[in-house]
Amino acid sequence: MRWGLTEDANDARPKPPTVPAYLAQQAAERAAARARCAAGIRCTEPACLAYGAVKVTYLVDSWLCAGCIEATNIRLEAAGHAPDTVRPVPGGTPERGRYTVTLYNAIGKGARLVQCSSPQRVQFIAETVRPFNNTGYTIQVTAPPPN
Ligand SMILES: [Zn+2]
Repeated sequence: MRWGLTEDANDARPKPPTVPAYLAQQAAERAAARARCAAGIRCTEPACLAYGAVKVTYLVDSWLCAGCIEATNIRLEAAGHAPDTVRPVPGGTPERGRYTVTLYNAIGKGARLVQCSSPQRVQFIAETVRPFNNTGYTIQVTAPPPN
């Protein structure tokens, strides 16, 4: 008799490890977020949220897509502002800029700042890092110091 070498023992061999479903899902979600963020920073108009928005004049902490710049200017002009009050900031997404995302809880205290070096990366962090419940975020950019 050969102890432990029965057909049944073979069946008990460990199966190759499988990735737990939640981890696979998490990885898929991150990959999807990375793909979305390839276009850059998201428009801050809640009804829009298109990717690839630019830094604009007049509205602090706002990033707008071309359509929302136009719509905002129409709204502002109707309210008595000068035409084209909101314009893209020239060089608003500088190549070597420092992008800072402030992650916060809209109803609580505390915030976490994460700094990185590209619009794609900062938007990705804004969408995937969740230090608080009900997290909101704002993105700011500082141009690199001149050489
Ligand atoms: Zn927009």
